[in-house]
Amino acid sequence: MDYAIARRLMVERQIEARGVRDPLVIEAMKRVPRHRFVEEALWSQAYGDHPLPIGEKQTISQPYMVALMTEALQLRGGEKVLEIGTGSGYQAAVLAQIASRVYSVERIASLARRARLVLDDIGCRNVNIKLSDGTVGWEEEAPFDGIIVTAGSPGVPPGYLAQLAPNGRLVIPVGGREHQVLKRIVRQGAADFREEDVVGCRFVPLIGKEGWSEGEVV
Ligand code: SAM
Repeated sequence: MDYAIARRLMVERQIEARGVRDPLVIEAMKRVPRHRFVEEALWSQAYGDHPLPIGEKQTISQPYMVALMTEALQLRGGEKVLEIGTGSGYQAAVLAQIASRVYSVERIASLARRARLVLDDIGCRNVNIKLSDGTVGWEEEAPFDGIIVTAGSPGVPPGYLAQLAPNGRLVIPVGGREHQVLKRIVRQGAADFREEDVVGCRFVPLIGKEGWSEGEVV
């Protein structure tokens, strides 16, 4: 299988065809070898129009959702970005093509470890991964120009708002266990936030102090 061709078709048919236009996002999606972020037995499915399992009952998101969420962050290059939910490391790698520094938090050790190995292997050097409860953000590294949450949250954890830089954007799926709405929240002033709905979506739960409790999701 020619993965470069599969990736080009993925971008044309799943991403550009559905209206994602930001050239920085398109270029990043063309560049990152998505198949490397799933187990080898799934490489041939890595460019399909769907999420895939990555172990520990977690998923790598559908390519279109990765592109749409990245576009919603409105990056122009050079930013400092926080991702919650490292998972496979794929979304972090896409962000790292545009932003200058990516900080990513994962609560499951085996996923964080594997993501680190793959990112190192493909030469992605501007991603820092921390094993922790990401529902409280990453206070020591704040403020962030963008925060992207790749798991579904019952509400907007207050730490994310506090850790946004002026004009910073938070992209987060908010809602129930089964369905959420992807929201973009822009910090317009110290305590002034503008909120917009982007699209309906379905994510695995954000589990932690300011998210779902583990007992609620088994
Ligand atoms: N961004 C990932 C990728 O590109 O593969 C996909 C993320 S997957 C849909 C959601 C991830 O969020 C899972 O790996 C899960 O363990 C993680 N997660 C859930 N709650 C978390 C929390 N409180 N802190 C950090 N990670 C969390």
